[in-house]
Amino acid sequence: MSTELLKLIQKYDVQGPRYTSYPTVPHWSSTFGQSEFKTTLESFDRNTIRPLSLYTHIPFCEEKCYYCACNVIITRHKEQADLYLGYLKKELDLVSPSVPKTYSVTQIHWGGGTPTYLSAKQIEMLFQEYEKRFSISATAEISIEVDPRVTTFEQLKTLRTLGFNRISMGVQDFDPKVQLSINRNQTEEQTIQVHTWCQELGFTSINMDFVYGLPFQTREGFEKNLKMIVALEPDRIAFYNYAHVPWQVPYQKFIPEHSLPTAELKLELFQLALEIFKDRGYLPIGLDHFAKMDDGLVKAFEHKTLRRNFMGYTTQKNTLLLAFGVSSISDVETIYAQNFRKLSDYYKALDEKRWPVMRGCVLSLDDQLRREIIMNLMCYLEASIPEMEKKFSTELKQLEPMVSEGFLTRSPDRLQVTELGRMFVRNICMVFDAYFQRQQEPSKRYSRTV
Ligand code: SF4
Repeated sequence: MSTELLKLIQKYDVQGPRYTSYPTVPHWSSTFGQSEFKTTLESFDRNTIRPLSLYTHIPFCEEKCYYCACNVIITRHKEQADLYLGYLKKELDLVSPSVPKTYSVTQIHWGGGTPTYLSAKQIEMLFQEYEKRFSISATAEISIEVDPRVTTFEQLKTLRTLGFNRISMGVQDFDPKVQLSINRNQTEEQTIQVHTWCQELGFTSINMDFVYGLPFQTREGFEKNLKMIVALEPDRIAFYNYAHVPWQVPYQKFIPEHSLPTAELKLELFQLALEIFKDRGYLPIGLDHFAKMDDGLVKAFEHKTLRRNFMGYTTQKNTLLLAFGVSSISDVETIYAQNFRKLSDYYKALDEKRWPVMRGCVLSLDDQLRREIIMNLMCYLEASIPEMEKKFSTELKQLEPMVSEGFLTRSPDRLQVTELGRMFVRNICMVFDAYFQRQQEPSKRYSRTV
């Protein structure tokens, strides 16, 4: 790696948001609650047809992977899932009457935790609860996250029969030494078996999640890893940068700092992946996704309908995203609303027949303009200058060093992030983040940007 690049890493490797929303979650307010959320949903014209996206959070996992920052509940007491499904039903009963009946569900995603913690029977029952209350389009994208360590053929067959057509599979790293250090022992055979079943059952898109920056990753080991990934030919690859924030995620304290790759090595791993994935015909999408040319994510990129949200990158920009379950986040035009993060608070609100909203945000006009710029940068690595020239002249000035450093090119009508700048796109977005810029001190709430 060149000395110049090393200097850039040292300069820009700071703590910053991942921009799955703008404003980012720490700037939402706990005064936002049921009334604000309900009023927004009920203000929509009940005679128009609009696309709807439904997210469901299943928080349970059998074991905790040390690196994971998701809101999960570790338990092997499967009866907990029955109780939870009962509360999900209560939430659907409370919220769904506020959604216009004319709205058509074009996207469904179940995430977690581990959605395949549910048995085939529970999966079927939960899906039917949605079918009873919403009109699901025959062409809807219906996806679920699966953990190959606990997923059976019976569950996958049930999912396919119900209409699920996309699978997202957690892999993270094939190396047993890395797996041991993150408490996630997943054999190559388990991954290949679930992948084969998904292909046999005709899921139309298979995504695999990998993480770089994990303990004990080396260039040699990682290259082997990447070759194994491309040999399986997933349609999409989500390639996440591990965020080491043990002050926020207590389990990460089990990961010794000395075992983590340096920022320089992480960048090398990312560049290696970029090279190998591109060589095998994958198009890089946004910050950390790769997709085959015939995958929906590439079409969404070409048609400018990509969306960045809490699920990563999705294909439908203008849907209203309604989320159900503990800690889940709805993204509805100019508001965000998050459910309680603690199961006991979530259950209590529903027992009292209240929407379980913990906090949220109503976007000002300024927030909306900045969100558009940040999301364009995160999705397409570009932003339109005429739209920002008058209002954001200070920000454009602030970007000048990054233009000189080769992260961006500037033409009369747009800012374009370069291949080098792709690695620093969060730093570029931070310039447009009014809340981040107002902070007096660097926040420990965020992960490092490189
Ligand atoms: S990575 Fe997946 S399986 Fe592991 S703790 Fe997080 S949600 Fe659970």
